[in-house]
Amino acid sequence: MSHPSTRRRFIEIMPFVGAGFLAACSPKVETPAPSVSAPPPPPSVAAAPEPTPTPVAAPASPAPTQEVAKSTAPAVLPMLDEKAAQAMALGYVADAARADKAKYAVWAAGRQCNGCALYQGKAGDVAGPCPLFAGKQVAAKGWCMSWVKKA
Ligand code: SF4
Repeated sequence: MSHPSTRRRFIEIMPFVGAGFLAACSPKVETPAPSVSAPPPPPSVAAAPEPTPTPVAAPASPAPTQEVAKSTAPAVLPMLDEKAAQAMALGYVADAARADKAKYAVWAAGRQCNGCALYQGKAGDVAGPCPLFAGKQVAAKGWCMSWVKKA
């Protein structure tokens, strides 16, 4: 038989001993610690790199048609060929200095198409129409025996 005070003492401490025993023998269950790290930020629209705009080639403008070019550009007459029959008949040369001075006594220095009354080119033009050679241009520095002093 044990001592009554010892038994009472045993009864008094038994719940604590049992609880301690249970605590010591029970498997440790670790509760997950609350996460202290912040969740990853949502993808920021402002931080995202802007997509590089793809250059869009401008549509090529259509090439002017032959008719458009004809309608807007001034008509350019072909140059008179010195070897053309009418040109040879009048002794035309594209450079007055090359005129046959022996054959054409009317030739004189300084006489050239841009100083002729028949010349229809504007001042500064390198060539212009002449009514003696329809459909052709004569050189501003040209000459022919029909030269007439411009008034
Ligand atoms: S007529 Fe006058 S403009 Fe015509 S080719 Fe002769 S010189 Fe030149």
